[in-house]
Amino acid sequence: MKKFFDYLVVGSGLFGATFANQAIKAGRKCLVIEKRAHIGGNIYTKPIEGIQVHQYGAHIFHTSNEQIWAYINQFATFNRYTNSPMAFYKDELYNLPFNMNTFHKMWGVRTPGEARQIIEEQKKVSGINEPQNLEEQAISLIGIDLYEKLIKGYTGKQWGRPCTELPAFIINRLPVRFTYDNNYFNDTYQGIPIGGYTQIIEKMLEGAEVRLNTDFFQQRKELMAMADKVIYTGMIDEYFDYCYGPLEYRSLHFETEVLNRENYQGNAVINYTEYEVPYTRVIEHKHFEFQCQNGTNNPKTVITREYPATWTKGDEHYYPMNDEKNNNLYTRYKALDDKETKVIFGGRLGMYRYFDMHNVIDEALKCAEKELS
Ligand code: FAD
Ligand code: UDP
Repeated sequence: MKKFFDYLVVGSGLFGATFANQAIKAGRKCLVIEKRAHIGGNIYTKPIEGIQVHQYGAHIFHTSNEQIWAYINQFATFNRYTNSPMAFYKDELYNLPFNMNTFHKMWGVRTPGEARQIIEEQKKVSGINEPQNLEEQAISLIGIDLYEKLIKGYTGKQWGRPCTELPAFIINRLPVRFTYDNNYFNDTYQGIPIGGYTQIIEKMLEGAEVRLNTDFFQQRKELMAMADKVIYTGMIDEYFDYCYGPLEYRSLHFETEVLNRENYQGNAVINYTEYEVPYTRVIEHKHFEFQCQNGTNNPKTVITREYPATWTKGDEHYYPMNDEKNNNLYTRYKALDDKETKVIFGGRLGMYRYFDMHNVIDEALKCAEKELS
């Protein structure tokens, strides 16, 4: 006899887990399947040498939504970490996001007025009125010099295309501030869960049946038959057998190393903005937990180099490529999704959107409210 569930949740990332958590609380039975060997999707963390390692890239939780902050705080206590990455370009170090410290380092200016004047002059020289792409948007926000040093190379390698061929919204994720404030985010709430992210997903999935190493497409028919409805958080184009052709994604490769030294780079995140350096960021995980400040004196450290990569079959799909061409293609898949009565598509891959964690929770809670009420 087949076991029967109210929901089959495909993918144990933040979207799937948030939905499952709400469904379980509402008394529904959930089967969560995950093709990887662990739960958590891209927010998975695991301890190495007493340090929580962000296995799939640095994850800093940030939101201005009080409800979402309260929701996530049910599952972990967050520390006071504030992201303040540095950018390294040809032996020069700059503060990020773009703020008075960055402008001072670049031009020697001290006041917001002086910085604004230089940016205006550089914008004028480049002849940009209404920015049409990422390059034009970046120059109009921070001028030519900083675009050349901190954006052009990094963005070119991150997305595998020149900035002139990328949508402007990508760069709008970064604040530009005329104050001496190195906080990467403008949000009211920010932090890293003490003890890592995996515990959050574990707690969210309490009460669900979880099957790891289970790919939906290997047993599609049998799995679909086991539940009334399906919450699908994998790639939407794969679900529809790529019938309109594949959507484009960017992938990443991570290289993690344990080092026998206490402090490698003095900061959690250092960006390498030169095009010629093949990685974009180096993460030193212990700094997310203030391990060099609170006297724990761990003699080891763990670092991860993040290499952007063209997505090829078998690679992970980390970033949807939300340009016009791919968004139009997604719209066609979305029309198929709208006709599905048994399946709900969610998350970064199911909705093909460059979502941060707080966006994913927001979407999953809305989806659960609609579905479960
Ligand atoms: P995922 O985490 O991708 O989960 C989907 C799950 O479905 C995966 O576990 C996958 O294995 C599984 N799956 C897929 N197909 C199948 C299948 N066929 N069968 C079974 N299982 C399947 N957000 C922030 O807020 N702050 C940050 O600092 C931040 N940093 C980031 C850094 C990087 C490098 C990346 C890539 C993302 C970052 N994000 C950050 C975004 C964050 O990772 C996402 O918002 C969030 O993890 C998305 O959750 P999800 O459930 O939609 O997708
Ligand atoms: N970016 C850049 N230089 C940097 C940091 C970011 O050009 O030093 C650009 C790049 O195009 C990147 C985008 O800004 O994709 C958004 O940056 P964010 O740190 O939000 O990227 P994510 O963490 O999502 O990879």
